[in-house]
Amino acid sequence: MQAVMETYKRLGISPTGGRGSWLFDDEGNRYLDFIGGIATNSLGHGHPALVGAIKDQADRLIHCSNLYEIPIQAEAAAQLTQATDFDRVFFCNSGTESVEAAIKLARKHAHDHHGPEKHEVLTFSKSFHGRTYGALSATAQPSLKAAFGPMLPGMVHAPYGDLEAAEKLSGPQTAAILVEPIQGEGGVNVAPEGFLQGLRDLCDRLDAVLIFDEVQTGAGRTGHLYAYQGVGLVPDVLTSAKGLGGGFPVGAVLAKEEFAALGPGNHGSTFGGNPLAMAAIKAVLGVVNDEDFLAEVRFKGRILKNALETLADRVPGAEVRGEGLLIGFDFGDPDLARSVFEHCLEEGVLVNLVGGTTIRMAPPLTVTRTEVRAMLDTFRGGVRAAMSAAVPEAAVA
Ligand SMILES: *Cc1c(COP(=O)(O)O)cnc(C)c1O
Repeated sequence: MQAVMETYKRLGISPTGGRGSWLFDDEGNRYLDFIGGIATNSLGHGHPALVGAIKDQADRLIHCSNLYEIPIQAEAAAQLTQATDFDRVFFCNSGTESVEAAIKLARKHAHDHHGPEKHEVLTFSKSFHGRTYGALSATAQPSLKAAFGPMLPGMVHAPYGDLEAAEKLSGPQTAAILVEPIQGEGGVNVAPEGFLQGLRDLCDRLDAVLIFDEVQTGAGRTGHLYAYQGVGLVPDVLTSAKGLGGGFPVGAVLAKEEFAALGPGNHGSTFGGNPLAMAAIKAVLGVVNDEDFLAEVRFKGRILKNALETLADRVPGAEVRGEGLLIGFDFGDPDLARSVFEHCLEEGVLVNLVGGTTIRMAPPLTVTRTEVRAMLDTFRGGVRAAMSAAVPEAAVA
């Protein structure tokens, strides 16, 4: 890897193949993939519907640019709008790009209706919205931004879950509130009861755009096609990426008609919405946008979460958070979390660490119940080993 810039701290495994929930390397090792390319391999590895759609589309036409009509783009957009409460879709190629587009859209909407003073975007502590300047400025994690200033002006941050602070920090100058319904990178933090509805009401009062960043929670991850559908309110704009392409790079911004403020020349993308990416989205939605499939995601998520909660009862200070197949086990202790993470890795189970003390699980949505149980066995073993190493007499039975 010497020629690759060292932007990632990589683990020393080299997957070269995959099937379902499993990754393989060339040395004959196999790994149970409970992180799924960071909530991205929604259909697992080598899913015939996704692979077939990509192969077939590659044979026909990979790219032609948005200079022309792209029928398969219209089809993918229609599939998304029919499955949600939104009317319009803008396609791009990643999560960060979808956030950029959403910020531009919201500022344009505010500008058109109220003028340039209404341009602030309110976001929340521990959020993650991406790495480009708009998305990074929106990301309220100082450590990610420290060396890269100045940030985009007009970004305001309130503590996640603190509605009162959000009310204090917003006003007529607020163009948009951008929030993850469940924070992924920040540690799998679930919005407290009433918080999202409070933001909905606040946006209505301020005539500000409510944007849900569902890059991680979308495409079926929580057992709903989009997490908002399990919350009982509708944001004005929603961003989607990660699992939406099942591993193929895609991004999308979904907007209600009255918020679809971007017109010709306002925004664009060379690759965004190209036929190959649209074939991937259509294949993923073809599997995931199905009530039985989503019910099964919720069911498997319940098995996983219930078992982890039972385990957490025996670990002082531990907590389990998340929904569907986005679950975090917070050990409340970085050493314990790392030790369990390393045990899982040694035993061939892939998870990852977020927020320092939390192990995140985001397996393929197609994971089997048997694989969930296998993962739990390994995880329990890791907790037992770590606990007995830390406090021998308090070993978990
Ligand atoms: C991963 C993530 C992003 C950034 O997506 P990229 O595809 O890495 O640019 C933005 N928002 C949320 C909530 C994410 O989880």
